[in-house]
Amino acid sequence: MLRLKPGFQVLASHAGFRARGLTTVNASRSLRRAAAALLLGGTSTALAAYFLLPDISRGAPTCDNIPLSPSHFTPAKLVSSTITSSGTKILTLAIPPELLPEEGDLFAPIWSVFIKDDDIQVERPYTPLDGVDENGNMKFWIKRYQHGEVSRWLHSKQVGDTIEIRGPLKTWSWKDDAWDEIILISGGTGITPFYQLLRTVSSGNSSFQGRITLLHSSKTLSELPPHDILDPLLNFARHNPEKFRLKFFVDSFGETKGQSSMDLEVHKGSIGKESIRSALHSVSWFPWWRGLFSQDSDVSDRKILFLVCGPEKMVEAIAGPYGRNYSQGPVGGVLQSLGYKSRQVWKL
Ligand SMILES: Cc1cc2nc3c(=O)[nH]c(=O)nc-3n(C[C@H](O)[C@H](O)[C@H](O)COP(=O)(O)OP(=O)(O)OC[C@H]3O[C@@H](n4cnc5c(N)ncnc54)[C@H](O)[C@@H]3O)c2cc1C
Repeated sequence: MLRLKPGFQVLASHAGFRARGLTTVNASRSLRRAAAALLLGGTSTALAAYFLLPDISRGAPTCDNIPLSPSHFTPAKLVSSTITSSGTKILTLAIPPELLPEEGDLFAPIWSVFIKDDDIQVERPYTPLDGVDENGNMKFWIKRYQHGEVSRWLHSKQVGDTIEIRGPLKTWSWKDDAWDEIILISGGTGITPFYQLLRTVSSGNSSFQGRITLLHSSKTLSELPPHDILDPLLNFARHNPEKFRLKFFVDSFGETKGQSSMDLEVHKGSIGKESIRSALHSVSWFPWWRGLFSQDSDVSDRKILFLVCGPEKMVEAIAGPYGRNYSQGPVGGVLQSLGYKSRQVWKL
């Protein structure tokens, strides 16, 4: 586990999309010492240690009278549960407002919390869509995996049930002035960290001056993100076309024959080289003859960032495979063929 500052951890990837071994809630001091030693060896080793070795924080106690923190579980109440498609739900958890930590920075994007399946003492990270409000509410869009441990358990919970969480945990650190342009590429519930980031940018709590494009892909129209996610994003794009654009893709239109219940332009097919290239403002916004010379010439020195989050196969096709032990691995796939370098690509 890599500690950034008290109460913070970095997560290596959006692991729902990469099946990972069960994270048991048993602790072992000696293995923790080994993890600490590995941590000195560098970030990727530390991240590996986080995922491979048991850690005391995963065997953390439950406390209901001290502020939410990664070092212990806090009991939360399930206050609403709404089915959003055949395999997804929006769940809202609430912790008592007096248990919210005072340091606002903790909730800067992108962060998540671990949710514990009390039956088998296993935890998984999930991304609060709108962060946390002053009443302690956190809303999640959660996919149920057919054989998944925690997601199935969560889908079985009823309003009023207690669910333990610990966090916040940093997934990726946002910086307002680091990039001129950001391309977010997601599949399925991989949109959740991007939604959280975009809500911060659109809320005026960010001085980011660049442009963002979201390319999102789902299997079918009925599996597209729910209104709770799409409506605020569409609204942001409608009122800020210079700042934010979004484009949706589906593998097939399914039974709907292309009719979406939402006011959306949806493309059939996967996100590939052409869709990524044409999403770039710095390319597609130039007159065509400038684009001819600039589009693939030398992109590696531009302040363009790609964040990719989704099923492992999709991440691999777009940005190359993850490295060993949940490290980033080299840039591959479409982004490599377009000339982007590892400092410009992050696989969540
Ligand atoms: C930082 C972060 C944030 C995240 N945020 C979200 C979010 O907001 N929403 C969300 O839905 N997910 C999110 N995830 C993913 C989430 O953490 C879980 O990984 C996901 O819910 C699956 O967990 P699980 O315990 O249900 O599945 P697991 O038990 O971990 O199984 C994972 C996969 O393996 C398959 N599997 C399990 N057992 C078997 C078996 N015996 N045979 C064959 N296949 C099997 C499952 O079907 C599933 O596809 C996030 C992940 C990370 C890292």
